[in-house]
Amino acid sequence: MSGRATYKTFKGGIHPPYNKELASGKAVREAPLPPEVIIPLQQHIGAPNEPLVKPGDRVEVGQKIASSEAFVSAPVHASVAGTVKDITEITGFTGAKVKCVVVTPDAEQPEFRKQDRDITSLSDSEIRDIAREAGLVGMGGAAFPTHVKLAPPKDKPVDTVIINACECEPFLTCDHRLMLERPVDLVRGLKLLMRAVGAKKGLIGIEANKMDAVDAVRDAAAGDTDIAVEVLEVKYPEGAEKMLIYALTGRKVPPGKLPSEVGCLVQNVGTAVALYEAAAWGKPLYERVLTVTGPGIKEPGNLLARIGTPISALIEACGGFAGDPGKVIMGGPMTGWAQPDTNAPIVKGTSGVVVLTPEAVDVGTEEECVRCGKCVDVCPMFLLPNFIAQSVKKGQWDKAEMWGALDCFECGCCSFSCPAYIPHVDYVRKAKAEITALKRK
Ligand code: SF4
Ligand code: SF4
Repeated sequence: MSGRATYKTFKGGIHPPYNKELASGKAVREAPLPPEVIIPLQQHIGAPNEPLVKPGDRVEVGQKIASSEAFVSAPVHASVAGTVKDITEITGFTGAKVKCVVVTPDAEQPEFRKQDRDITSLSDSEIRDIAREAGLVGMGGAAFPTHVKLAPPKDKPVDTVIINACECEPFLTCDHRLMLERPVDLVRGLKLLMRAVGAKKGLIGIEANKMDAVDAVRDAAAGDTDIAVEVLEVKYPEGAEKMLIYALTGRKVPPGKLPSEVGCLVQNVGTAVALYEAAAWGKPLYERVLTVTGPGIKEPGNLLARIGTPISALIEACGGFAGDPGKVIMGGPMTGWAQPDTNAPIVKGTSGVVVLTPEAVDVGTEEECVRCGKCVDVCPMFLLPNFIAQSVKKGQWDKAEMWGALDCFECGCCSFSCPAYIPHVDYVRKAKAEITALKRK
């Protein structure tokens, strides 16, 4: 028998240039300490935190510096040992103002003192408490507090925990490196997740362009009959929650519903490893692995960086810009946030910094729709992006909603495929804002 292997996947999606070779072979190295870390008080979806420190205070690495009593929230910890210089408002990576604790690091940083805890007998509620105390959030970008995800509604039992190890965004390679360098800890983190929700099955979904990671994680999970490593087609957005659940289990999450509706919980690679570190070592989430890459970076790589490190320091740590930068993106090019400058600090959900050249940024000028249907073919949510865009242009918000604007999760497949350069995601965002405002009236 010959021919190409076929892997599990979903319907729709695109095959953008992945450009992962720029950083995938680079082992994770520690980023140098910046002159100051700027730690946003809110790095999660949910209630805002209040500061627990004031200017002039000494802080130790891993010390809690901001928290909230609200359930849907996650505390924030000092990422360095040092002195609080200021508590101030800055423009964060989304363009919104965020309150931050600015810390000047000590010249000498003590090693984090790892505890050696027995994690084999932790109960479900103990694991949830650990996740909360460590400030864990989804590290794939969504930044939803992990302890909240670990407490699904009583009438929606979770039988399957899925590790999203697709890393389907072009350029990013930090999850790939974690799987190669920390596969055992990933599997241990998955087991903690399974125990927290009482799931009998764990699935790790990895795209077929990372077969070395498939081998490493399969080796790490050998002997665990309740865990399976599945190979998925290389396609964007394979790692989107609903697409991943369908590809791996055949279950369809209904519009507007959460994965627990179909008995699933999805967490990404970084979050699973961070849960293991929190449970076994007592380590809060104050640093993370991320990728600094793109044709506009001299020496792309994967860095272990302290939360609050400004993008500029990470770019410098990777040799600086290669020529004039066209665009600096926090996150991947499909779902990340363009940065007007390099001052914004990284947060728990930052998986990468991508720098594109001016040529790569030139996407063409919007033209009239030629009715080719490509946007409809690629939409993984089976929406009609062309009709949504037309409705928005005419201010017909009821029609935009009818064509599914609220179900769009802004993956960008439609914009990527459109020969008329129609910025569909911009139109969808506008529709969502208008429809939500109308519903509030
Ligand atoms: S309409 Fe939304 S979900 Fe569909 S392809 Fe476009 S951005 Fe993705
Ligand atoms: S891909 Fe662009 S040109 Fe083609 S139908 Fe959709 S909006 Fe129109």
